[in-house]
Amino acid sequence: LTVTVHTIRTLWSNAYLIENPHGVYLVDTGAPGSEPTILRALRALGRSDLRLIFLTHAHFDHDGSAATLRRITGAPVAIHRADAPYLARGETPIGSVSHNLTGRLGHMLLPLLPAVGQAPESLQADVLLEDGDRLDAYGLDAVVVHTPGHTPGSSTLLVERRLAFAGDLLSSRSRPQPQRFYATDWSQLPESLRRLQTLHPEWVYPGHGSHTIRGDELLTIW
Ligand SMILES: [Zn+2]
Ligand SMILES: [Zn+2]
Repeated sequence: LTVTVHTIRTLWSNAYLIENPHGVYLVDTGAPGSEPTILRALRALGRSDLRLIFLTHAHFDHDGSAATLRRITGAPVAIHRADAPYLARGETPIGSVSHNLTGRLGHMLLPLLPAVGQAPESLQADVLLEDGDRLDAYGLDAVVVHTPGHTPGSSTLLVERRLAFAGDLLSSRSRPQPQRFYATDWSQLPESLRRLQTLHPEWVYPGHGSHTIRGDELLTIW
């Protein structure tokens, strides 16, 4: 075991700090204003060597503090190529929404984000990722797995072939389940989930929800 994972609960979503002897790596940043929470978690580790900020996708509740954290820590921001244009415009693409209450609420509330200070600052990503890209150059044994559907560039970071940071492909809000509220392309979601399952991770770290999903639980989804 060479990495330690620290879960950070921000107001809307989960962010994760991955720690190894070479550096610290942040997966997602929470909504705008989450930087004090994340910096506190980093300080608690006694580390200042944040080497990369990996964004699972360009939604305000995951990329919202990326620009500020980049300014403060100097760590480069990496995101899949297909979501980089949204990040650059500070947009949250939600595509079509499901007809449940959360889906409809999101659609109603999204235009209000700027008014409540929750619109992400636009940010040019430093690193544009593609499926199969590796992060060894940053000191982390990890590979980018493109798992689109929720957004065009939604990606899972697979660390040491056993820890999967899946963003909003999955949620563990009540029980482990696929994210069913928003998708720019619903037809891509089953294949993205199957792809994650075939990787057989030991643990899946979801973008929302209070617990980490075990590999055997992952196989029971859908
Ligand atoms: Zn999302
Ligand atoms: Zn989310």
